[in-house]
Amino acid sequence: MSSGRTHDRITLISLPILTGISLLLTRNAELTLWVAGSFLFGGLMFGPDLDIHSNQSIRWGWLRWMWQPYRQAVPHRSALSHGPIIGTVCRLLYVGLWVILLALLYQSICYFLKWPMWNEVQIWEIIKQFVTKNHSTLLAIFGGLEVGSMSHYSADFLSSLSKKIFAEKKPIIDAEETLEAQPKPRNSKKSRQRRRT
Ligand SMILES: [Zn+2]
Repeated sequence: MSSGRTHDRITLISLPILTGISLLLTRNAELTLWVAGSFLFGGLMFGPDLDIHSNQSIRWGWLRWMWQPYRQAVPHRSALSHGPIIGTVCRLLYVGLWVILLALLYQSICYFLKWPMWNEVQIWEIIKQFVTKNHSTLLAIFGGLEVGSMSHYSADFLSSLSKKIFAEKKPIIDAEETLEAQPKPRNSKKSRQRRRT
């Protein structure tokens, strides 16, 4: 597994490359800005390592407590956090659950204080209209988040692979080293005297 600093470096180095590719493919500066912003957010704060106490979770500041249940529920490096697409979808659904929970809490407060409450049908309509109007922006955000996470999965995979290869080679090297390190038979006058006693 690569260190948090390596992941950060990969994200920052890849950012201009991804921005260039996005601009070339979309020919749209606004969409490219969304892709680049979400890629940066995905790589630094919304990545797969939110399943452990990591740089990504620390960067959430006082909001980092909200990732505590996620850490408990999702095993580190499982498909739910480190799986392509499924990892990003799960994290988005998890944030969605928090939004629903907060909305329900607000509704309950409104009910007790007799404030005007939200109408579920109206909310659903607003969401539907928002998604229809901004579907390309939302797709650009998802793409940026996923590519940010993908750079993480790839670095983790390559790091594990290189460790595996080196671990397979190491016993041979170790055996050679032990052979070389074995003490040579002592034939000095002192050792001969010790052997006689
Ligand atoms: Zn990881």
